[in-house]
Amino acid sequence: MSSKKGKTVEIFTPAEQRAARSERIEVRDAEPYGWIAFSESGAEQSYHLFRNPETRRLVCTCADFIFRGEHEPHYECKHVSATLKYIARQYLAREYDPHRQNAPRTLKAA
Ligand SMILES: [Zn+2]
Repeated sequence: MSSKKGKTVEIFTPAEQRAARSERIEVRDAEPYGWIAFSESGAEQSYHLFRNPETRRLVCTCADFIFRGEHEPHYECKHVSATLKYIARQYLAREYDPHRQNAPRTLKAA
């Protein structure tokens, strides 16, 4: 006899759930570099994010990222999602230059 455990029906994909949760995460610039993400459960729980100099991707210090990231190289936890949105907003407000966007990328020799 085999009895199947009742699985809860997931309406949203994990990626969609993470995206929704990332809305409730506050991100701030950290000192001396990187970012701090405060989780929705309260400001006492925070994670440090920084850019990996080799992969140029965000790295998070939460258990979710450390565990899943080991198996999925491009895994993004909710803090990474929230921080990417934060960086994008900062970039649009401060750095974005429409004339540079499609300019040919020439590598200047130093
Ligand atoms: Zn994280």
